[in-house]
Amino acid sequence: MKLKVIGTGSKGNCYILENEHEAIIIECGVNVNAIKQALNFNISKVVGCIVTHEHLDHAKSIKELIKSSINVFATKETFDALKIESGYNKRAKPINQKDSFKIGGFKIMSFDVNHDAAAPVGFLINHKETGNVLFLTDTFYCAYTFKNLNNIIIEANYSKQVIKEQLDKGLPVFLRNRIIKSHMSLETCIDTLKANDLSAVNNIVLIHLSDGNSNEVEFEKSVKEATGKTVTVANNGISINFNKTPF
Ligand SMILES: [Zn+2]
Ligand SMILES: [Zn+2]
Repeated sequence: MKLKVIGTGSKGNCYILENEHEAIIIECGVNVNAIKQALNFNISKVVGCIVTHEHLDHAKSIKELIKSSINVFATKETFDALKIESGYNKRAKPINQKDSFKIGGFKIMSFDVNHDAAAPVGFLINHKETGNVLFLTDTFYCAYTFKNLNNIIIEANYSKQVIKEQLDKGLPVFLRNRIIKSHMSLETCIDTLKANDLSAVNNIVLIHLSDGNSNEVEFEKSVKEATGKTVTVANNGISINFNKTPF
């Protein structure tokens, strides 16, 4: 299985897990054509799309995917916030914040996260090739720990140090307050990782880095040092081997 990053960060998030036979789209906050292109226009292999919350950097192309006959799974509150009727074209599939469901060869568990959105979720995705994949973004902390993780995709939005420097340079206080109550800091990301058993983890992928309040090189180094794991900072267009076993 491979993880492809189509978009990451506040300009748009979209990730694809795919092998030769099937693909799942995680978030669709980019132009639908970019998603189709990343799939080499092989739409028929897509088993579905899962979306964490209604912000457009995650949900922009839901309607277009549905029009392309792709099932989209999100909470009812997410669909409501986007004024998409649950069941729209029979392809808007409402889930609960705490739920479990199956899409193709992917078994998915959703859980609640802490963000300024309507009933936002994170996902624990299981596939026989990838093992257990944690997908956690747009949350300022995570109330849960997870067993037997094999791959982790996690937000590291800002660092407390960088945001302090930005405040000195004129970042408005209300913006700082919004960020710290909705997004995950590097420090919380590291605490969250360390709260879990990482012994079987192959990859940690850092996503949704803030343009102004993060430092890619520093973030990668800090998480590597704290966990001893292979750490990759997501950038648009990259592709990573994403399996249960390293090879
Ligand atoms: Zn976001
Ligand atoms: Zn958001």
